[in-house]
Amino acid sequence: MASKEKTDKLKAVGDDLLALTKSPLYPYRTENKYLPVVGEGSYGAPIMFVGEAPGETEAKTGRPFCGRSGKLLDELLASIGMDRGSVYITNLVNDRPPENRDPKPEEIALYAPFLERQIDIIKPRVIATLGRHSMKFIFEKFGLSSELNVISKIHGTAFQAQAAHGPVTIVALYHPAVGLYNGSMKPVLKEDFKALEKYK
Ligand code: URA
Repeated sequence: MASKEKTDKLKAVGDDLLALTKSPLYPYRTENKYLPVVGEGSYGAPIMFVGEAPGETEAKTGRPFCGRSGKLLDELLASIGMDRGSVYITNLVNDRPPENRDPKPEEIALYAPFLERQIDIIKPRVIATLGRHSMKFIFEKFGLSSELNVISKIHGTAFQAQAAHGPVTIVALYHPAVGLYNGSMKPVLKEDFKALEKYK
């Protein structure tokens, strides 16, 4: 897909999210003057990161992972010689859930098609999930349900799957927020990111 076509298609994803008035998160968005958060990064990225949902900083700016978790994500990317300009970063749910609560199954179902459209446009070789919600969704979507386990068991392991655009490697990673709450997890996160190094 030519880059102009990708740009147009991603803009359409953003426009459709802006118009998603039927979302249960829409009133919370407008009351707080929040924005839906679409993905960001390189449209030719080999690696797509899928987080959970925007936090407050993200919803205020409309950019994924630009708060404290994002700073740690930047640090983890730098530890393998990458930056956010060389990957694509998005979320499972594009509007902020109140008080950063877990996204509800019906919210995940409503927003999933927007993630699926981004996957079809970006065509990543690797999808790295950040946290257990995006892990569950991506594993189930790509026929890896039998490999699903608690994140403490499968973090950092690469699984092979088939996307509409070709083979895709799926890697489940801890959400960077884990490293903020528990500093002793930072080395584990760093070690897991090494699994991505060979795809850059
Ligand atoms: N946490 C997420 O899961 N996504 C973001 O964009 C920011 C924080």
